[in-house]
Amino acid sequence: MTNSFEKIDILSLSLEELEKEIINIGEPKFRAKQIYSWIIKGKWGEEMKNIPLSLRQKLNEKFIFTLPKIEKKLVSKIDGTIKYLFELYDGEFIESVFMRYEHGNTLCISSQVGCRMGCKFCASTLLGRVRNLFSSEMLGQIIAAEKDTGERVSNVVMMGIGEPLDNYDNTIKFLRLVRDENGLNIGLRHISVSTCGLVDKINKLAKEELPITLSISLHAYDNETRSKIMPINNKYSIEELLSSCQSYFEKTSRRISFEYTLIEGKNDTEEGAVRLASILKKYIHSPCHVNLIPLNEVKETGLGTSKNVNNFKNKLLSLGINATVRRRLGSDINASCGQLRRQAKEERE
Ligand code: SAH
Repeated sequence: MTNSFEKIDILSLSLEELEKEIINIGEPKFRAKQIYSWIIKGKWGEEMKNIPLSLRQKLNEKFIFTLPKIEKKLVSKIDGTIKYLFELYDGEFIESVFMRYEHGNTLCISSQVGCRMGCKFCASTLLGRVRNLFSSEMLGQIIAAEKDTGERVSNVVMMGIGEPLDNYDNTIKFLRLVRDENGLNIGLRHISVSTCGLVDKINKLAKEELPITLSISLHAYDNETRSKIMPINNKYSIEELLSSCQSYFEKTSRRISFEYTLIEGKNDTEEGAVRLASILKKYIHSPCHVNLIPLNEVKETGLGTSKNVNNFKNKLLSLGINATVRRRLGSDINASCGQLRRQAKEERE
């Protein structure tokens, strides 16, 4: 992020990069570590207690520091899940969801403002894509949520608004920054990147040596069914996608997870489960897991949630496919991803 004065977006820097900048402005290197430890807590200016005023003034001339601002916050009375609507520096909105699990807190973050993938069941794509998020805005969602809750985020899922692999460079930069021991220090094994299946980018990602968990939004068992609900399937067939998943596993040894949203009358029959098991067995020769998600209904799409979730799961299990149904957290604050942003945009207009 830069503005007309070409200030540097400080949250987009690694500690080593910040050290260089600090030396460039004639300050001792150790200041960089001090500053870094403040910014990853979301603190700036006077809040940076051990930074003298003269240096804080220099920092303001050279850098910009912004965090996503909480525009709206919904807290579930059932399980404490928090849904944030964040406003970015340019007035755009994104969403993040903070979930409490036994193994720690998970934050679901957005990777773009809107989305251009056009999946027929999804609220985030209804208005198209406005812009990519900077890596600093991805980190910023975590920092803002930790600052607001006073709790640590130990797991991150890139399953909010946007297609992370359609914003490839910033996503990779984010993954390299978030693992930094001096920074947020979230291990990549605790991060899932979810994609609708950009095969060229999956192949590229396999070479980055980033031990994240890759989640594939599959949602269908053949091309006819998949193309009807996911336009990306017209570019990359389901066979190409599954082959790239198998190569990804061979290169990285990381287990692949498949997401499968069950939509009434579209992809949820027992025969569908049989065909899904069969295509997975044909292409994936490595441990995999199917995460079944009952459709979160979005009014505009006209699609309904499946009543066949358990049958579908049991059929997959009986065929030797590891499958679970995603537990729905925060059901009382509804809002499947993308809905809050659209409401906020409508209210503004
Ligand atoms: N673009 C990425 C990540 C964002 S969506 C991707 O496609 O994977 C995160 C997951 O939620 C995806 O599996 C997506 O298909 C699913 N999803 C989107 N809208 C949904 C809805 N209304 N109900 C259930 N799952 C949905």
